[in-house]
Amino acid sequence: MLSGVQVMTQDLTEEQRKLLEQSQETHEFQAETGRLMDILINSLYTQKEIFLRELISNAADALDKIRFLSVKNPEILGEKTELAIRIEINTEEKSVSVTDSGIGMTKNDLISNLGTIAKSGTTQFIEAIKGGNVNLIGQFGVGFYSCFLAGQKVTVASKNGDDDDQYIWESQAAHSFAVSKDPRGNTLGRGTQVTIHLKQDAVEFAEESTIRELIKKYSEFINFPIYLKVTRE
Ligand code: ADP
Ligand code: MG
Repeated sequence: MLSGVQVMTQDLTEEQRKLLEQSQETHEFQAETGRLMDILINSLYTQKEIFLRELISNAADALDKIRFLSVKNPEILGEKTELAIRIEINTEEKSVSVTDSGIGMTKNDLISNLGTIAKSGTTQFIEAIKGGNVNLIGQFGVGFYSCFLAGQKVTVASKNGDDDDQYIWESQAAHSFAVSKDPRGNTLGRGTQVTIHLKQDAVEFAEESTIRELIKKYSEFINFPIYLKVTRE
């Protein structure tokens, strides 16, 4: 039953990236979201590592959702019966990715879930900011946007259901994100891969020892296996 399970999504080739850029639709972040991202990045810059906790927690949520659906309808899992989280670092490219075989997101999900704060756990973060205790803010679920603490660019590939294509959401923070069909086709089968292209002051997250420690720290309450793969080229 290992078929398809081990396959990692390769980074886009130059040609695929050209294709991607031609078909990208650009969206503005909601004004609120942009402001929140600025506050988040400025108040948590000493706690960049929490992006990994947030990604693992989102992956586990997505896996919980498909597992719940599969209780009534086991066929929904298709060939992808292993519910797991795969973390991959690329020490050369200075990137870290978190891949799950969870429920996945449609194109519209990518636009609405990763573009607005209404859908995000960041409401807790806003409450914490109002409370004024900057030191405690990192303890709250701050959500997906914490990716920009460590990432200069964040790429999300996602595939939901049988009758849908795989899409890519990409942003370098600032004010906008872009969405397009994935030129690599359906490489995930089902699920989501978030790739963080690390900032220069966050390249430690592409080191095996650092990431191993963090996985240990943040996997305590996660009920799915977490695998680590290190690529050095
Ligand atoms: P929260 O997890 O508290 O809802 P986040 O900011 O972490 O807030 O995530 C926002 C939304 O984006 C999630 O509610 C979910 O709908 C979607 N999302 C994020 N990561 C994933 C993922 N790995 N798989 C499926 N959906 C995801
Ligand atoms: Mg979350």
